[in-house]
Amino acid sequence: MMIKSFEDYSIADVPELLLDNVDAVIVVDAPTDQYKALLRKGFFEQYIEESGSYHDLIIDLWFHFDGSSEKVTSDYQIFADNTGDFRKKYSRRLNIVTAEGEKPHLVQLTVYPLVPSEKYLFVMDEFDDNESLQESLTSKKIRTIQSSYLFSMYIDLVLDTTSSINVAEMSDNVVNYNLKYSDWRMMIVNMFLPEDQDQFLRRSDPEYLKKNFPQGRTASFDCMMRNLEGKFIWVKLIFSRAQTNDESDYRFVFMVQDIHENSMEMLSTLKKYEEMAITDPLTGVYNHGEIESQLHNALAMRVKNDEPVSIMMIDLDLFKKVNDNYGHAVGDTTLKHLAKIMTDISLEEKCSVGRWGGEEFVIVCYGKSGEQAAAIAEKLRHSVDVYEFPEIMHITCSIGVTEITGEDDFQEAFNRLDRAMYASKHNGRNMVTKL
Ligand code: GH3
Ligand code: MG
Ligand code: MG
Repeated sequence: MMIKSFEDYSIADVPELLLDNVDAVIVVDAPTDQYKALLRKGFFEQYIEESGSYHDLIIDLWFHFDGSSEKVTSDYQIFADNTGDFRKKYSRRLNIVTAEGEKPHLVQLTVYPLVPSEKYLFVMDEFDDNESLQESLTSKKIRTIQSSYLFSMYIDLVLDTTSSINVAEMSDNVVNYNLKYSDWRMMIVNMFLPEDQDQFLRRSDPEYLKKNFPQGRTASFDCMMRNLEGKFIWVKLIFSRAQTNDESDYRFVFMVQDIHENSMEMLSTLKKYEEMAITDPLTGVYNHGEIESQLHNALAMRVKNDEPVSIMMIDLDLFKKVNDNYGHAVGDTTLKHLAKIMTDISLEEKCSVGRWGGEEFVIVCYGKSGEQAAAIAEKLRHSVDVYEFPEIMHITCSIGVTEITGEDDFQEAFNRLDRAMYASKHNGRNMVTKL
């Protein structure tokens, strides 16, 4: 380009100056959803075709804003910014990611509505490296907010309108969408997990919002929503009613916050606590509370399903001597090994093992008749008899077995079980008795 002196510049230079200094210029025809690229330079050459569907172009550019995904799923496209109708000038900065691991391109996008026609002029200009660096420093903090707040918009219930809020620029830069709030609800609802859709419709209902939100009130609820890649993630949906001077205003800010990682962590902690609450710490089998509630369930199931259920009680023989002769620690180890033998057998047979207390254990055998349960008990008795326990080498157990009948209540069934076990003790130990 020729270098002119300052005095020589005139209006005639404008087209050339602009062509030299911006990277992409596009004309959009809103009614037909077509665009035509008048200018494409730099990396835009790769990402913008000469012409095509305006909607597809935005979607294509839009997923490059994030860079985490290959494709924007069709449901998610209602979140794509800049697809609305522009009635005012609009300008924002975008980070466009073209390849993973590479520095994103920082781009200034400006939209000029060509009023009164329904056409727009899109101008995009990439910042040079220096500007990018400055920008990335100042916007680092802001981007953290943006990455946790996936989406936000203004809602006006009186006008039934939506408009976007650009968190990234912290400005009140608003695009005039033609999207009605009532239509938007019906579009977005499909992005939620089917179980969460009713809740979303209820809590985003204009009448519900009007009734339950005094000015200034914020409320939120958690649900699962499809992300850019179509995967369900945990999000927090936040509605906040603006504080204005006019009570008849019903203006809200709506935000979607990504809480997936924290939620998953919380759920796994909950699961851990749940397991702890039902597990015997020494042996790892169910604790007394849990096996007792399984006994109650077994009784209820017996009545409901008309399937046999049997129960078993196991008590180590002369266990006190183990403690006396080898010490309490060896006694504990013996209990752990016994629990392992019981668990292995129970897994094959779909039975639940629990520690009733001390060296007494209860097993619930679902779907097993008394005979079948006695056979399992015999297998267990034999396994213990031949097992080489650390230090003590050999110990035996006595087992009682009984099938739950339709007439049994808990106490009756349990007493019969207890008697069966004591019969085994009384008759010489290391044996199975079925009553
Ligand atoms: P029996 O064949 O009649 O059942 O004889 P036993 O010695 O096993 O009978 P008893 O019920 O009198 O003794 C049970 C002993 O189990 C008492 C206690 O020392 C021991 N014990 C109970 N719980 C634990 C435990 O958690 N760890 C250890 N090491 N020993 C326990
Ligand atoms: Mg004992
Ligand atoms: Mg005992």
